Amino acid sequence: MTKAKRKAKLVQEGVVSRREVLKSLVAMGAMTVAPPIAAHSKHIIVIGAGAAGIAAARRLKRDGHTVMILEARDRIGGRINTDHSLSPHPVELGAEFLHGSRVKTWDYVSNFGLRTLRADPNAANFIHANGQTVSTSPWQTSLMGTDESLEDLIWDAAETWAVAGGDDMTVDDLISHSDALSPLRDPATRRILDNMYGEEVAAGTTQHGVYGIVEASYENDGNRDYRLEGGYSGLLNRMALGLDIRLNTPVKRIKRRPMDTVVETADGTLYTADAVIITLPLAVLQKGAVTFEPPLPDWKTEAINALGAGKVNKVILRFREQFWPSDLGELLSDKTLQMWWQPGLGRRDAPPILTSNTGGANGAYLSGLDEASAIELGLSELSDIFGEDVRRHFESGVFANWGADPFSGMGYSYVPPHAHGYRADLAEPVDNLLFFAGEATNTIRPACVHGAIESGLRAAKEVTGQVENLYQYQPMGVLS
Ligand SMILES: Cc1cc2nc3c(=O)[nH]c(=O)nc-3n(C[C@H](O)[C@H](O)[C@H](O)COP(=O)(O)OP(=O)(O)OC[C@H]3O[C@@H](n4cnc5c(N)ncnc54)[C@H](O)[C@@H]3O)c2cc1C
Repeated sequence: MTKAKRKAKLVQEGVVSRREVLKSLVAMGAMTVAPPIAAHSKHIIVIGAGAAGIAAARRLKRDGHTVMILEARDRIGGRINTDHSLSPHPVELGAEFLHGSRVKTWDYVSNFGLRTLRADPNAANFIHANGQTVSTSPWQTSLMGTDESLEDLIWDAAETWAVAGGDDMTVDDLISHSDALSPLRDPATRRILDNMYGEEVAAGTTQHGVYGIVEASYENDGNRDYRLEGGYSGLLNRMALGLDIRLNTPVKRIKRRPMDTVVETADGTLYTADAVIITLPLAVLQKGAVTFEPPLPDWKTEAINALGAGKVNKVILRFREQFWPSDLGELLSDKTLQMWWQPGLGRRDAPPILTSNTGGANGAYLSGLDEASAIELGLSELSDIFGEDVRRHFESGVFANWGADPFSGMGYSYVPPHAHGYRADLAEPVDNLLFFAGEATNTIRPACVHGAIESGLRAAKEVTGQVENLYQYQPMGVLS
């Protein structure tokens, strides 16, 4: 059975969405829903100028609607933010890679003629655990007896577990229960896996749910990673050209009226719209930074609170001399800072810079540090790994603390045990006036830029009534 067929089976078996039954009833005409907004020109407000908000606004504008984006920060891009001060080449403080050669982001990259770089295919990857640094592939192969990646092995075990109808549990518990994963049970291996998960999916193995892994299949995305040669912000700037974006305009209240919506900003200005697309990060929704009148329905609040908002932060260090292998691709560490890589890999004359990306519990810990402490932690851990006087080579550093940023409060979303299906609920409109987009609303492609873009396009279709089967459940909830 292919993965797609297996997923369809999960849906049939009711594994995936708790609101599926409701949606099917509505689709069959058994329940009444508000009709879609008519196809004539609408005035739409989009909240947030990240990838989701900009993709939605572009599509709406293209289709002849009037659209205004209200953005809290003094810049666009949200969790995409390219630094040009640390190095002659762009350095990404937030999203860095296009994950996959077949993802939606390429439509824009190709249209705009932007250049990309493969995140070097010939790079050498390492694991540092228990004071030793070893090459990743031989370590994995000798541990598992196959050269399939650990992520794929865990995904397969999770799928087997879910298809068999096993109770949802953490990935760490799955390792204890699944025979296929028994080589991963010793404490040191669990620790390195926890760091691998924290960095990749913003939640450690003791936080992420097994069914959540199966939901996020990233089907057909492809396995290769790419960087944008001119930086990710360059893509967002191109996408945003010609849009009406109001910067420094945090929204604080959204009021639904029978036929329209009023949005109030922090300075008390009121904007009225036929509908609003909300792309606020999950953590911003969870902390109630924006209030809703009347309050959001219980099913929506339940979804907001059930999903996880993982903190992912970067410490980026520039050195005078390179003390690591020149072909270093990824270095997964069992220390606090989980993954190191060279942001300039594959570029000519790139200065010696290392980026660390850290999520899960370690990411949350980092969010409580100031910049000097985070940089000091990075230097200390690199000294342990490379056995060199790393501080002597140190030149400058940056701490991108997304977890403490009031307008993100997180890196990316994840699905704890028993929270599968809630992404679809998070995505669902309220009263045909409030529409929801953002990475956390994408069931099969969460936590990434292309998932955010897809969600924006989906919300733009919904708001103008173009999605014929809006209330009919789609396997895993994604409308392409
Ligand atoms: C460290 C890090 C590394 C990452 N690496 C990758 C990667 O390599 N590849 C990848 O694909 N993805 C990566 N991601 C994830 C990716 O950045 C996000 O999934 C994506 O950018 C989210 O887009 P979005 O539009 O959903 O949300 P956001 O980009 O967060 O946009 C939401 C917008 O809402 C605004 N806002 C917040 N509050 C208010 C308010 N009250 N009023 C008005 N506006 C408000 C915010 O300022 C923001 O601009 C990474 C993220 C982080 C943090």
